Amino acid sequence: MSKPRVAIFDFACCEGCQLQIVNMEEEILDLIGAVDVVEWREAMSEQSSEYDVAIIEGSITRMEDEKRLKVIRSRAKILIALGACATIGGVNKLKNQFEMDQVKGWVYGKNASQPQFDTYPTKAVDEVVTVDFKIHGCPIDRAEFASIIREILLGAKPFVPDYPVCVECKAKENVCRYEYNEICLGPIIRAGCGARCPSGNFRCFGCRGYVDNPNVEAAKEVMEKYGLTVEDLKQKMVLFGCQQEPSV
Ligand code: SF4
Ligand code: SF4
Ligand code: SF4
Repeated sequence: MSKPRVAIFDFACCEGCQLQIVNMEEEILDLIGAVDVVEWREAMSEQSSEYDVAIIEGSITRMEDEKRLKVIRSRAKILIALGACATIGGVNKLKNQFEMDQVKGWVYGKNASQPQFDTYPTKAVDEVVTVDFKIHGCPIDRAEFASIIREILLGAKPFVPDYPVCVECKAKENVCRYEYNEICLGPIIRAGCGARCPSGNFRCFGCRGYVDNPNVEAAKEVMEKYGLTVEDLKQKMVLFGCQQEPSV
């Protein structure tokens, strides 16, 4: 039986999620043994227009990206969005709060009107094409990546938690960040990271995106309990949640 052909592509991002894959060391050799990697700009020079699985890192910020992504989708049987930039738009969505001309002016100054700097409001990959699987996080977790890829290769549906970070945080018996007068997004953000940030004494800022049906009433109750308002919570949703707020 021939191995599935895998291609990895990047769009607007820091490439940190690909770096997580490169850094998998011995485990990457096992995975690479199970597939035929035919294109991966960060790790090899070969290119191919024939692949079964396309892994997409980064968000979509230009019309030419959109066209390129649609071509990739048309060639791939399975398309996987890798990391927060791809799954939810990531930090690149911060710019969506502003006018694009304003943003271009800040970044490119007097050269902003040059056509090569053209841009539009950031989109997650699934705002342009159908996504079959998402690997969440900024950056992704290496163990979760390996597990999800293995399950996909076996034809199984990978397990991706659809409960909030608070569940993992409570299981670790962390003291809640609200007790330190911090606003944590854990009650509405998808678990799977092992409550990495609260376990390191930092609030969750939402890199895995919202659970499918955020319990906004419970979030409101938490805010009320600590004398905070919904507006306080919304202000903390900006970094990874711009323009995709659940209605709290
Ligand atoms: S999700 Fe985070 S680590 Fe991954 S490419 Fe985007 S900014 Fe970089
Ligand atoms: S709100 Fe944050 S710190 Fe508190 S339990 Fe939930 S994830 Fe943990
Ligand atoms: S705790 Fe929140 S911000 Fe931190 S890794 Fe998990 S989902 Fe991302």
